[in-house]
Amino acid sequence: MNEPADLPTTPSFADLGLRTEILAALDALGYEEPTPIQRETIPTIIGGQDLLGQAATGTGKTAAFALPILSRLDLAQKTPQALVLAPTRELALQVCEAFEKYAGRLTGVHVLPVYGGQGYGVQLSALARGVHVVVGTPGRIMDHLEKGTLDLTHLRFLVLDEADEMLNMGFAEDVETILADTPDDKQVALFSATMPAQIRRISSKYLNDPEEIVVKSKTTTSVN
Ligand code: AMP
Repeated sequence: MNEPADLPTTPSFADLGLRTEILAALDALGYEEPTPIQRETIPTIIGGQDLLGQAATGTGKTAAFALPILSRLDLAQKTPQALVLAPTRELALQVCEAFEKYAGRLTGVHVLPVYGGQGYGVQLSALARGVHVVVGTPGRIMDHLEKGTLDLTHLRFLVLDEADEMLNMGFAEDVETILADTPDDKQVALFSATMPAQIRRISSKYLNDPEEIVVKSKTTTSVN
């Protein structure tokens, strides 16, 4: 039976503007349709707008930022163009694995986890070879910036994942320094399960006219 034309239909991943290699990877992974946060976030990030998202894990949040960033990577650029900040090593590794999984059909994408407790040697040689996406904890990223071993002068995308957790863990100053010391024209996506005043303040200071979305378990609300 055909659906009546006036009933809203769920957009497919292809409708959201992702490049074909990403669509092929999603197909191979068996992802049938975008989750609510992905429907809202993917076109916003592809369109170049900043984003403030209130969302917990389990909503498909990682793919919501990884897919559009991968779609927009310039693979010829050898200095990092996307940086994801995460509160813990475990989350940083999970996000890295997600990027690698979604980049499976794109040739030559390099994603590097950067966290404390790991030797610098591995991180330095990978950075020297060329990395497109860095996923790290704020403390170790700051260490690299202070040593001059991480070049973020051509950064295009900055994602703050679980921003409230990063503040709870004492990373507020590092996060603000990284926001302030990376290019003004970068695109920023900030995700947080809660929106305390400090996150609102950081958002109004460092995000440029962000699209605000709130994702409860099953529904999404666009605030502006
Ligand atoms: P996250 O909220 O990012 O931690 O993702 C939760 C889980 O949902 C992960 O295991 C993803 O692989 C999976 N996932 C994300 N998006 C989709 C989708 N559109 N269809 C099916 N599974 C998904």
